[in-house]
Formats: sequence, C-alpha cells, structure tokens
Amino acid sequence: MSSLRRVITAAIVLLLTAAGAAAQPAERPNVVLVIADDLGWGDLGSYGSPIMRTPRLDRLAAEGVRFTAAYVAAAVCSPSRAGLMTGRYPQRHGYEFNTSGRDVEIGLSTDERTLGDLMRGAGYATGYVGKWHLGRRPARQPLSRGFDEYFGLLTGGTTYFAGDHPEAVLDPDRPAGTRAGREIYSGREVVEVEEYLTDVFTRRAVDFIDRHAGGQAPFFLVLSYNAPHTPLQATREYMDTVAHVEDFRTRIYAAMVSSVDRGVGAVVDRLAAHGVDDDTLVVFMSDNGCVGYAAIACSNGPFSGTKRFHLEGGIRIPFIMHWPKGLEAGQVYDEPVISLDLFATFAGLAGISLDDGVVRDGVDLVPYLTGDTDGRPHDVLYWRAGPNRAIRMGRWKLFEVNRADPAATHGGGRLLPLQDYPDASPHGQVSLLYDLEDDEAERVNLADQLPERMRDLRERLDRWEDSLALPVWPSNRSTITEIDGDLVQLFF
Ligand code: CA
Repeated sequence: MSSLRRVITAAIVLLLTAAGAAAQPAERPNVVLVIADDLGWGDLGSYGSPIMRTPRLDRLAAEGVRFTAAYVAAAVCSPSRAGLMTGRYPQRHGYEFNTSGRDVEIGLSTDERTLGDLMRGAGYATGYVGKWHLGRRPARQPLSRGFDEYFGLLTGGTTYFAGDHPEAVLDPDRPAGTRAGREIYSGREVVEVEEYLTDVFTRRAVDFIDRHAGGQAPFFLVLSYNAPHTPLQATREYMDTVAHVEDFRTRIYAAMVSSVDRGVGAVVDRLAAHGVDDDTLVVFMSDNGCVGYAAIACSNGPFSGTKRFHLEGGIRIPFIMHWPKGLEAGQVYDEPVISLDLFATFAGLAGISLDDGVVRDGVDLVPYLTGDTDGRPHDVLYWRAGPNRAIRMGRWKLFEVNRADPAATHGGGRLLPLQDYPDASPHGQVSLLYDLEDDEAERVNLADQLPERMRDLRERLDRWEDSLALPVWPSNRSTITEIDGDLVQLFF
C-alpha cells in the first residue's frame, strides 16, 4: 500500500469511527423481549396462581415492575404479534385476523417497519428465537425483517418433540396428532432438532447472549416461546416440578409453564454471568389470554373470557419489565398499557426519534415508570375483529359483538367466513358495557342504564375505525359462544 493510500485509509477509518460514535450514544441498554404463547393473566405465581410454579418470573417481577393492566392489541396470536412488532394497531395495516393456515400467502406487509428494523437501524445486534407467525415467504421471514439471526418456527404452532422421545409426556386426548413432524428453521434452512423445543429455544437464546454480551454494539433479542400453546407436551423432568397438580392435562400445561419459567431464569443467569444484567431491559409478556378450548385449568385470573374474546380474559396479559439500572425494583403498575408501547419504549432506549410520519399507537413507558412523566400512558385503548369491537376508556369498557344465528352449531370450529357478515349480523349485535373499577370480571352489563356513556364510547370507536385500513384478508374461523346469556359469534 502506498503511503498516500495509507493516509487516506486511516482518514476514512477515523471518519467512520467518529460518525459511528456520534450516531450511537453511550450506555444504551441491551433489550431482551420474552414472549409466551397463550399464557393467561393468572398463570404466574406473582399474578396469583395457586398451582403454577414460576419462581424465576416471580423474582423478575419482584425485582422489576409488574403490570396489572397490560393489554395486547388482539385476542389471538398473529394480529397480536403484528401490533407488537410494528407499534401500530394491526388494523392500521390490514392485519385484522389470524393467518390460520394461510401464512404461505399472507403475512406482515413489508412496508411496515418492525422492531427488528428499528433496533438494527439504531446499531443493535438483533436476534429472534422462536415463534414468528408473521408470514413464511422469504421476504417476510425474520432475516428480511430486521433480524440478523433467526432460529425458530415460522408458523403459529408446532409439536414440542421431533418424534418419539423417551422423556416425552403427551396429551392423552391427542396421542396421535402430537407426534406429527415439525419444521424448525435456522436462518432460512430447515434443521433437525431432537430435544424438547422450549429447551432448544432457551439454549439458542443463551448462545446469542454469549456471542453478543460484551460486544461493541448493544443487543436486542426476542425470545418467542410457543409454550404453553397447545399441543400439551412436556418432559418428565418438568412434570416433576408440578407433581402437586391433580388433573393430568392441567399438570402438563403447568409443566410447560415451568419450562418457560426455567428458560427465563437461564437467560437472566446468563446476563448476570456476563455482568450485563443491570444494564439489560428484560420484558416478559404473553401474546393473548389462555385458551378455553383445551379444557384445562389455565387461568385468566379474575377476568371473564379467554383467547379469542375481547373480554379482559382474552386481551389482558401478564407483563413484567426488569431493568435494575433504569427502573426501581418492586413496582406494581396499575394504569393501562399495551404491547404497542414497546416500540416507542425501545426506540427511547436506543436513542431513536420516531419522526417518520407513521402513525404509531404506543408511548415510551420508561418516563411513567421513573416518575419523570405524570399522568397515564393511555386514556383510551381499542380493539376490533371484523364487526366486533371494544374500547377501554378509564374505568369503562364497551364490547360490541355480533349475535350468532340461533340455528348455528354451538362451539368452536370453522363456521362462517367473515364475508358473510361484513358488518353487523342480521341477528343484531349485543352491546356490553362494564365498569372495570367495580366489576373487573365483566359480569354486570350497564349498557341500558348509561345511554350517554354508550353514545360517547361508540362515537370514539367510530372515529378510531375511520382511521383504519380494510382487512387485507378475511377471517376464516369463528367461534359461537355465550356471553351474558346471549349467543354471540367471535371472529379471528
Ligand atoms: Ca397466542
């Protein structure tokens, strides 16, 4: 190399270093976002579960912030994640319904900026482990959506074992289906993994931390367990941690919750081993309420409804934030927050300003938790799935839902496609107004008693709906169920 070229090279290196330093403020925390799948509000010890054993998550809550009124943007997996990943109500970009077996053709629009895009753009090393459920085509896979590394399942669920396994404990009600094959990706390639899937994901997360803790850039890791989503499958070892649970299928579920708890413990321990635990924000959440269809004793705490419902049990979730350096330990936060807030929260930590003109629906939670900002993060929160819609404003919650055809089959399953009911049902709608302050279980319908309140909430919902896009694909599943004595139809 000539001396002139050497001087020029040195100058370029200096310039690049200076530009990098200017773009990346010092002391930005690492971020680890752990997502559980279909875990109910009441399924952690720290949220009142009398049967689950979750010592590591309970400690995370005790040493961090435990949220009692945290919500997700949808009552089922895929749209909930589409909201989480974009910081926008998923209906803003037409992601109103589950992909339900159609995720080869459809998924998250590549026009949307994801959490991965956000954090990678801010100079973070980004990794995603576990369930994606936002599209399977190459352009929609995590490696194309802002994540440097990916290991996991692209679909909504899978079995936890690759085949017969000596340690496997399987659902006795689904003995055949639970042994079906699974498709696990490392990057863009399908790979064979033999062990219990939750443990495999934990090991991959720990490996990511090992490779990035102490690196020049901070890291952002999403650890998206598909547990404790059905099928009910555990190992003998995890079953031993919950041997006190009498009902066998509930015991399998509790064992799956234990596996998630132990996984979070392994991640936190590894952060500590690298000396970065004080400077890492760990967020733990579920993507929707626990299910009614598995006939197990999972719990949505005191709330009514389950996954698929816009009653509190479907959309209110366990939510913990742990960041020793930034958040005072032992807080219990009761104001409503929503998973959409994580986009703005992470942007704040990464030093990114979100002035790109895109409508986002979340706020940075950190100033509320440190006391730097007064008031509450949200006055109003909204939900919609086709003709069914809900709003929470302060203590008030309105849920408007289609009446079902009285001749329809009762129970879950593939019933009426949404295009048959583009608006309100020909059978009318049921309007349910609850006072969450006095009636958190949503049992006393006040709709007939408070017409002014009803009018106000409906007008707010109408205005919000005016700002939304049409669904890009229709619902292809619905459930007929009973709420407050009325037969109603839930779409997802
Ligand atoms: Ca889910």
